[in-house]
Amino acid sequence: MSGAQATAIRDAAATGSRSAGNGSPLLLEIADLHVAYGQVEAVRGVSLVLMPGQIVSVIGPNGAGKTTLLAAAMGLLPSRGRLVFDGEPLAGIDVEARVERGLTLVPEQRELFGALSVADNLVLGATARRPGRAERARWIDAVYARFPRLADRRAQMASTLSGGERQMLALGRALMSKPRLLMLDEPSLGLAPLVVREILTIVRALRDEGVAILLVEQNARAALEISDHGYVLETGEIVLAGPSAALAGDPRVQATYLGGGTDEDGDA
Ligand code: ATP
Repeated sequence: MSGAQATAIRDAAATGSRSAGNGSPLLLEIADLHVAYGQVEAVRGVSLVLMPGQIVSVIGPNGAGKTTLLAAAMGLLPSRGRLVFDGEPLAGIDVEARVERGLTLVPEQRELFGALSVADNLVLGATARRPGRAERARWIDAVYARFPRLADRRAQMASTLSGGERQMLALGRALMSKPRLLMLDEPSLGLAPLVVREILTIVRALRDEGVAILLVEQNARAALEISDHGYVLETGEIVLAGPSAALAGDPRVQATYLGGGTDEDGDA
């Protein structure tokens, strides 16, 4: 597709999103974002919007720039362009302050403290919020209620957990920061289909409880299935965007990302 077509689709998606929430403000606005590693631009002019209460997915192949995009939004990488969270520009705001404002990233590598227990990993997740002991204990109980398997393993070292349990702990730890926007980098990576389903069900439940989600996934089928809007990122640029159902029905998306079929059994 031409750059002009991509821009038209992107703008249409953005306009649709703006009006979808009965005039409520955007929770996240990314406009003309550029991120470079030295001389090489990994993200090139990306624009994306997310309304409160939405799951927005970014799909694309290996190396498209998905992780780079999230890292820039989190403030882990310098970027050029516009990043606005809940009406406030994020420029000059460090990672900790972004967490305090309600922005949290669950990184692709999960980045747990392997030598610490499940419980201690959760405690560390609340650092930016500085809750009192009793309040923190309530938050931890809420995580255990959501992830009973973590409750069973609360004293176990994080390094001994299975892949699915590690992802649950990474999600639980992120929830301890009381995010308003949770950015998930490939939450399905390396997990068995049944565990992927379980994680996606939890992501949907979080959205229903009011946590907005920016979901980066190579598993396009799963991502489009649970998201409201989607963006396709290829070599650092958005090439297609729109409501997820429309994207899932787009022949180009089907051919490249959904195995060429219209398989609806959702066997992710
Ligand atoms: P994956 O699904 O494999 O994580 P991705 O879509 O998240 O892919 P990125 O990891 O953001 O893609 O990478 C985007 C581009 O930037 C790739 O060409 C990658 O090789 C390059 N890149 C990523 N990290 C670095 C780095 N630290 N230094 C230099 N180049 C990098």
